[in-house]
Amino acid sequence: MRLAVIDGRASLLVDGTVVDIERASAGRFSATVDELYRDWAPFQAWEADAVASDRSESELEPAQWGALAHAPQQIFAVGLNYVDHAAESGFNVPEHPMVFTKFASSISGPFEPLVLPTDSVDWEVELVAVVGSGGRNIAEADGLAAIAGFCIGQDYSARDVQMRGVPPQFSLGKSFAGFAPLGPVFVDTESFLEQSEITLECWIDDALVQSAPMNDMVFSVPRLVSELSSIVELRPGDVIFTGTPPGVGFGQNPPRYLRAGEVVRSAITGLGTMSQECVAP
Ligand code: ZN
Repeated sequence: MRLAVIDGRASLLVDGTVVDIERASAGRFSATVDELYRDWAPFQAWEADAVASDRSESELEPAQWGALAHAPQQIFAVGLNYVDHAAESGFNVPEHPMVFTKFASSISGPFEPLVLPTDSVDWEVELVAVVGSGGRNIAEADGLAAIAGFCIGQDYSARDVQMRGVPPQFSLGKSFAGFAPLGPVFVDTESFLEQSEITLECWIDDALVQSAPMNDMVFSVPRLVSELSSIVELRPGDVIFTGTPPGVGFGQNPPRYLRAGEVVRSAITGLGTMSQECVAP
């Protein structure tokens, strides 16, 4: 299943066409994507029979694509979840996932411009898991069954704000407007994971800065579900940023941050490509 938010409405992408979910289901399912995650099993059963429309995906403008979550109840983000990223950040790999949040007002569409609020804004391409059924105390073996599917996320970070104070707190420095673009396409768990090789990549203009297989994750998605749900209740539509591979600007010597006019492109196998043009405040 491929899901997108087109012109603000939850839509299926079927054979290169755009199917408006609320209209095609005669109102049974919502045009708001967050509502679909809360109604996930019936929605999955219905979408299997959705038919292609006469509206073409290829004719869409970037601005028509929206974020694949609007107001999730919880957003989790995992730090230091790739060995070489932990190393470039100057930390050891943690024993338990290192978790912070990005506040929901930082969510943006996949092609919106990125306003640079400080001169230390950094990129982090990440695989984002969206919770389907959720729950508490989910065993690692059942972890994938709790996830509806995946999309691309960027965990933009103002490193100066993130690192200020002793001890530093990460969440505000990662929650400026536009710091959590999600998209362009959501793919259900089974379809996404049946791909044999999944790679995360990020470019700044034409320079490839991050490239790593998903399998380099320290804590797998089912392990993250298990660890998080041992403390909090995971709820349908919750968003989990699963960590970034090496190659962020902070890890360079000297650090290298985003400048107005640069374009950040992020891609994950099977999930398409999203891009943000950096603009001055
Ligand atoms: Zn991150």
